[in-house]
Parts: sequence; structure tokens; C-alpha cells
Amino acid sequence: MPETAAGRLLEVRRLLADACQDAGRRAEEVELVCVSKTFGIEDIRPVIAAGQRVFGENRVQETQQKWPVLRAETDGIALHLIGPLQSNKAREAVELFDVIHTVDRPKIAGALADEMARQGRMLPVFIQVNTGAEPQKAGVLPEAADDFVAACRGTFGLHVVGLMCIPPAEDVPAPHFALLAKIAARNGLKGLSMGMSADYGTAISQGATHVRVGSAIFGSRPPAAP
Ligand SMILES: *Cc1c(COP(=O)(O)O)cnc(C)c1O
Repeated sequence: MPETAAGRLLEVRRLLADACQDAGRRAEEVELVCVSKTFGIEDIRPVIAAGQRVFGENRVQETQQKWPVLRAETDGIALHLIGPLQSNKAREAVELFDVIHTVDRPKIAGALADEMARQGRMLPVFIQVNTGAEPQKAGVLPEAADDFVAACRGTFGLHVVGLMCIPPAEDVPAPHFALLAKIAARNGLKGLSMGMSADYGTAISQGATHVRVGSAIFGSRPPAAP
């Protein structure tokens, strides 16, 4: 393993290209979302210098603290929100982010739609599906996904580009990725945000268009704050 985050980024990019080749896909079909949550400006800067432009963060407040500085230094940064959103943070989320991966209930869909209209900023969104039906986890249940996709498009007028999932930690991920791909296909959605450090190769073989990779690039994170 390379010793720096910039070195590990290049290693992940190489493995990602290999996984695409094995799956008979082009590497350009898969966006690497580099997950920089919990890491500071000094940690992120060398990864930007190594060419990475697309980053994922899971908290609005942390993003507000880190990214205006980094954005002022480099053009073309795109930020993806990959964590749960509260409706009272919709305004800041639409200001800060370029893509939202975690739309999972009408209240959030409505708050985002209102803010996007107000700011004249129509962001692409993914709908998060709780493929493992875990009670503690965010996401619409698989059996409710079709109706929720329709409501996001119709009632709320959101620009829905795909589905996102986080499989249960104790499960083999492939069936969850396959289920997400199936729900996306029957809803005419091309985007599949799935795969993290441990399983992005599997996700690519199941059709992922966005993999969200953090620790394989930045190293392990401190335990999550309460
Ligand atoms: C933290 C996080 C990731 C990255 O996880 P790693 O295992 O560090 O790659 C991906 N997706 C979501 C939703 C996350 O919260």
C-alpha cells in the first residue's frame, strides 16, 4: 500500500480501472467519489493536487468549514452529499453541494425542491434505498421505491438520476447491489451510487456508476462522533 493519500488515490484508480476492464466496462463510466469526511483541509489538499476533483462529505456543517477554502484554490471541484440530510439544512445543502445521494422521504424531497427553485439551482439527486430493510438505516424500503421515485419526479419535480444504497455491514454486498440495479432499471434510472472501500470492485461488476471510497484513500477514520 502506498504511504500517502495521493499515492493510494492512484492505486484505487488503477484497481477501479481493472475492475471496469474485468466487467467489460469503460473506466469513464464510473465516477470515483473520494469521501473526505472527518479529514481536514491539509489532508485533502494533496489529493486535489494529485488530480481528484469529486469529493463526498456527509455533514453540511463540516462541509461549510472545509470546502470554501479548498474551492477558492482550485476550479472544478464537485461535492456530493452522501450523508442523511435534515430538512432545516436544505438551504445550505443546495448552496454547498453539486449532487445529493440521500433523498429518502417526502419531507426532504419537498425541502430540496423548494430550495432548488429558490436558488435556481437544479441539482441531480439519487434516491437512497434501504436494501437490507435495516430499522436504524436511512433510505426508502425496496417495496416503496417505485412510488417514491415517481413522487420525486412528479410531485416534487426533482432531477432524479439514480439510486444509492449502503448494504448491511454483515451481509455479502452483491445481492444488495443487484437489487438496487434491478429497481433502477425498472424505473429507467441509469445512476447507481454503490460500493465503498471494501466492495467497490463488486459494485462495479454489478453496474455501479458512482463508487464512494474514503478509507482506502485517506486511511482509517477516527470513530464517529456521537
Ligand atoms: C463514509 C462513507 C463512505 C466511505 O466509506 P469507506 O469505507 O471509508 O470507503 C461511503 N458512503 C457513505 C454513505 C459513507 O458514509
